[in-house]
This record gives sequence, C-alpha cells and structure tokens, in this order.
Amino acid sequence: MTTTPAYFDEGELVGVLTTQPLDRVLDYKAPEGGCFVGAFVEVPLGPRKVMGVIWGPGRGDWDINKVRSVMRVLDVVPMREEMQDFLQRVSEYTITPMSQMLRLATRSPGLGDPPSMRKVYRLGDKLPDRETDARKRVLATLRDYGGLAFTLGELAEMAGVSTSVVKGLVKLGAVHEEESPRDTPYPRLDPTLPSVELAEDQAAAAENLRAKVRAKEYATVLLKGVTGSGKTEVYLEAVAECLAQGRQALVLLPEIALTAEFLTRVEARFGARPAEWHSGVTMTERRRAWRMVGEGGAQLVVGARSALYLPFQDLGLVVVDEEHDTSYKQEDGVLYNARDMAVLRASISGGQVVLASATPSLESWANVEAGKYEKLELTSRFGVAELPKLSAIDMRDENLPATRWISEQLRRKIETRLEAGEQSLIFLNRRGYAPVTVCRACGHQVGCDQCDARMVEHRFLKRLMCHQCGETKPMPVKCPSCEAEDRLAPVGPGVERISEETAALFPDTRIAVLSSDLFGSARALKAQIEAIANGEADIIIGTQLVAKGHNFPLLTLVGVIDADLGLQGSDLRAAERTFQLMRQVSGRAGRAERQGEAVLQTFQPEHPVIRAILSGDEEAFWTSEAAERRHAGVPPYGRLAGIVLSSPDVQEVFDIGGILARNDEPLRRIGAQVYGPAPAPIARIRGRHRVRLLVKAAKTAPLQGALAQWVGQVKLPNNLRLSIDIDPQTFY
Ligand code: ADP
Ligand code: ZN
Repeated sequence: MTTTPAYFDEGELVGVLTTQPLDRVLDYKAPEGGCFVGAFVEVPLGPRKVMGVIWGPGRGDWDINKVRSVMRVLDVVPMREEMQDFLQRVSEYTITPMSQMLRLATRSPGLGDPPSMRKVYRLGDKLPDRETDARKRVLATLRDYGGLAFTLGELAEMAGVSTSVVKGLVKLGAVHEEESPRDTPYPRLDPTLPSVELAEDQAAAAENLRAKVRAKEYATVLLKGVTGSGKTEVYLEAVAECLAQGRQALVLLPEIALTAEFLTRVEARFGARPAEWHSGVTMTERRRAWRMVGEGGAQLVVGARSALYLPFQDLGLVVVDEEHDTSYKQEDGVLYNARDMAVLRASISGGQVVLASATPSLESWANVEAGKYEKLELTSRFGVAELPKLSAIDMRDENLPATRWISEQLRRKIETRLEAGEQSLIFLNRRGYAPVTVCRACGHQVGCDQCDARMVEHRFLKRLMCHQCGETKPMPVKCPSCEAEDRLAPVGPGVERISEETAALFPDTRIAVLSSDLFGSARALKAQIEAIANGEADIIIGTQLVAKGHNFPLLTLVGVIDADLGLQGSDLRAAERTFQLMRQVSGRAGRAERQGEAVLQTFQPEHPVIRAILSGDEEAFWTSEAAERRHAGVPPYGRLAGIVLSSPDVQEVFDIGGILARNDEPLRRIGAQVYGPAPAPIARIRGRHRVRLLVKAAKTAPLQGALAQWVGQVKLPNNLRLSIDIDPQTFY
C-alpha cells in the first residue's frame, strides 16, 4: 500500500501539526529543498522552536506576509499516511486534541538530535598469528553473526572473554573497530526455526491464524483457552508467519512483569530478542526502538499499550494478550482502550488481530456473537495438566474471630499441601496490612487529607498510604480526631496481615508475599517470581499480580480469602471482573502434572456470580450477563461516556455540572440522556473536588460529535478540568 507521499516545493504553504496545545494546524512555508507530507520538522512558534509534522497543504487563511518558514526537516522517517489516519481517528473517538495525539506518537527522546555515535566491532581482514582459545571464541562469534557489529560489552559477553581480549584483536587487525550510529537494528528473528510440536487443537488454531496472516487483510480473532492451554504457543505461530511475510508484528502484554518471561520464549522460538517498549525500558533503548520500528530494523515489538503509536512500516499482526485486562485502559491523559485501538490500528494497516484470553471481556464475547470477530478455542490444558476442582467455603459456618480470615477448612487443605511438598496460594486483592485504621475511643477512621479516601496501613513500610494519590504518613500514635493515645486499631485484612496470620498458623514454612508495592523494581519482582517457580516458597500470598500469566508448576492449591470482595460497589462490570479474576486465580493451580484445587471463601455462596464461577458454566454466565446489559442499554449494547469535572472549588464544579445538565440539547438531538451531576464515587482526589455526569446513548448514536458540541457550549473557568471518558472502565 505504498503510495508516493505528496511533496511540497520550497516556499509552498504547508500545514504543520505541533505538539503545542493549539486547536489548529498552522501554516508555514516549506523549507529550502522542500519537504514531504509527514516529515518531522522544527518550526518557529512565537519566540520558540517546536517540533511538528507536515500534515498537509496549508490552509492559506493567514496573512501570507506573516507566514514563517519551516526551520529544518528532522532526520527521521516521515510519518506514514496510515499513522496520520490512525491518530486522527483515535482523536475523534476519544475526543482528544490532535496535539496530544502527536505527543503520544513521538514519545521518543531526542527525536531531533543527529544520530549519536559509538564504537562498534566487526570482523577484520587479518588473522592473528597466535590463536588463543579466547581469541578463537571472539572470532567465531563474529563469524556466526555474519556482518553484524557488536558493542565492546556485547561482544565480550557473547564470546565469554574479557574486553581486553577484543582490544588485543583490534590492535592485530583481526577485529575492526569503527564509529557507528547508536540506533542499530535489532538482531534478525528467524521464523523458520522449529516450533514445539503442537497438540491437535493447537495445530488447527495455528494453521487458521497463519492462513489469515498470509491473506494480509484485516480480521480479528478471539483466541480463547484456559491458562496453560497453549495460547502463547499458538499466537507465536502467527508471529512466525507474519515475520516470514516480511511484515512487522506487535505483541501487547498487560504487565511489565510478564515481559521477561515472554522475551525468553521469543528468544527460544526465533533465536533472538525482539524490541521492547514500556516504561521500564531505558531512554537509549526507547529511542532505538522508535527509530528501528520506523526504519524496519525491528521485526517484532513486545510492549505496553503505547506501543500502538510506534511508527510501524508495515504492521501485519497485533496480539493483545490477556485482552480482558483492565490495565489496557489508559486512565489518564488520552483515555483510550488499547484493545479497541489495536483493532482500529490493524484495520488501517491491513493486519490481523489476535485477542487472547482465558476469560474474554464481555465486549469481545459480544463481538463474536455479532459475527465481527471469529473465535478460536483451545479446549484442554496442554499435556496432562487438568483444570482445578472448584468449591466454596461458606464463611457463615466458620465462626472466625474478627481478626482472622483463614478458615479451618482452608487451613487443613494448606496443611495437606505442605505435607505433600506442594505450594499453596492465598489470594486477596488488597495491598497493605489493613484497609482501615479506626480509633477505638471515638470511632474516627484515619483518612487522607487530600482525598475522600481512607488511609491504608502498610506495616512493611511502617506508614499509612492513600491508594488514590499515593500520599503517605507515619502511623500516628494519637488519634488525629480525639487525641486518645494508643487506641488506633487496624480493621480488615490486606495481604500483609494475611501473611502474619499465615505465619502464626504455619510457623515453620517459607512464606512469600507478592504485591506490587513490595518490590522496588521489575527486576526484584521477577527474581521473586522465579524463586517461587523454583519451589523456594511453600505458601504464596498475593494480590491480583499473581493472577496474570505466571507459571508456578508446584502450585496445587489456591485459596481465595474473600470471593465477595469485587461484587460490592456500583461498577457496571463488577460481576464480570469478579468472574474473570476468580477464574484466572483458580487457574494458577495445577499447571504441571499435579491436579489442582481452588476454594473460594464466601459469605454468599448462592450469589449468581459465585454459582457461575463454581459451576464453570461460562456460556451461561456470559449469556445472562449479556442479557442484563442489553436490557439496561449499557456497554457493549449501548454507549456510555463519563464526564468528570474537578476543581479546588466545590461550588464551581457543581455549578458547571448543573449548567451542562440543563443545556443538554445537543445530546437530546441524538437521543442520549444525561445523568448527574453527582459527586463522583471518590469525591475528592489530591484536593480537587470531583463531580461526574454520565451520558448514555444508543449503540449507533453519533456520540462523540454531540459530546464535543455539548461541552463546547460552556466556558470553563481556568482551574476547572473537564475530562471525557468514552467507554469508561472504572467509575471512580
Ligand atoms: P497459555 O498462553 O494459554 O497460558 P502457554 O502457551 O503459556 O499457555 O502454554 C503453557 C505451557 O505449556 C508453557 O510452558 C508452554 O511452553 C507449554 N506448552 C503448550 N503447548 C505445548 C506443546 N504443544 N508442546 C510443548 N509445550 C507446550
Ligand atoms: Zn490521597
């Protein structure tokens, strides 16, 4: 689909989109030597120089004498028409200014810098007269990799020698040292290397996907299969086909902690590591990834949601692993759902989408029902591993004291596992020690000064923490309200408290707590996960961090402390989330040869969601959940937009909210309704009062245009922020 981009001669009027918050594309004159549409440029704006992209011809509605010239064209591959189109459509869908979209698409440091140089090493033309073992290894490494250049550190490491050996070979002329640009291509991935031998259903799914990738047309497949059924093995075959076609592939993962394991699998399958793109990647590597994706020096990117905005040359495949995961929804800045935008991106580039999950979102389930997506299902766990047995523990019969949460039944099951040398996981989706700290003298609950939220005790850090704004303070000795001393008491459990209870119940066991706040770095977390996988813990206590894709072969028992937790609250997706999370967590048990078991502690075993989880009848759950949503006219059968107004001034947010609610003509014209203004579920965050309105519309209503018109009627005071969230995932 390569067409020659439009070209502008020197002095011709061009429209430049900049990353500055202006509501239009600005006119400039094309620079000396002219420029292509899509070129990244530097332009003068007032007294400053800013970055921009030649977006198209100029509008010519500006005094021609005042139009300035583009200063220079940056040494970067021009933005493709496809990317312009994508940014435009995401902007329209999410009601985000284009300047902000451009910022998302240029999140690479030093874009305008000339390529920096560094020393690299290649095979020289002379042979050393004396060949030591170390020298032989260096030369063999260079020969093995053909013409590839290495940095000194890389070469020494790969050959298993000290850097002085390489330096010595340089002196002899056997290795050639040269200056080379820093942003080098990634090593080639070899799609022809053999895969594992696929089981029958895996092979059928893989062949189906390969055929789709070969067709080079847009389509979306939902790849459904329980954890351990081999979804990853199957979609790696689609990646292989895509690479064989010479197109690029992108794999999105919901969690950085999962990338390490995945990179190792890619390396095992294709013989080299792909490009990485997420917040844990160094600036140098980010810059290299951005450039190489644009220049074709990266065949496969593994990354977080913002990888969708990388300048792919020819994107043939996007995999969204754990597609139901809520972290795909970007919750600040540009509010978009990476799963949905992946589908849009691929539909523009003529690529295949694979949405993989054991517990698909209701959105994807409905798209399959509607015939928009095809479903491929892997029905069994790979090898001998069987699905865990599921059962409930009725907590009403357990009579536990108020400071204990592990039932006698669960305790006995854990004990049996300990005796058998197997691992147990105790799951509670709550970080910290206790969610509430209450004064036993006056009943006061310690809250955050900046937010409408209670402070959570983190005993490990010896502090109270607000989970909304991250503010912490030392554990007070006196009650902040009545000043009584030593009367503050923790109420309810977090994982830290459960680990205390566990240690008391099982004194001589090795206990590991997996909670995102307990690890300083992704590396530390990864080390802990590996240690657990190697059997270095008997009991694991974890938050939802453990629900995601890690492999613990010795784990045979999962005990869920509070299966009712997610069912409270008014969230539209509460049932769906609980269903998914419980199934994911229980899927952790029994991944290797051993049969697993999962038990849910619940006070309401008769609740339809709990019953659906236990019965394992997924289709029944989805069908009834879909019927309820259809009846209520909410997503995926209707459309919702959440509008949050926030300001330090509480009166102001209600006033503006009221004005919006009364002037709903643009919404009524499309048959949409407004609810609110009402205080948002969290009515104050970081000192800003929050009010929300909800807009509900029919699925086919042109919602975005109406919303833009509606909010455009009101002049907003300076310190008031308005955010529009299309398809909100969370309701806080
Ligand atoms: P999922 O992505 O569905 O959780 P994986 O692809 O990670 O499943 O597979 C689970 C485990 O089983 C992995 O260790 C994987 O390497 C292994 N596995 C799956 N299919 C096969 C196969 N056909 N041959 C060998 N190992 C397999
Ligand atoms: Zn706070």
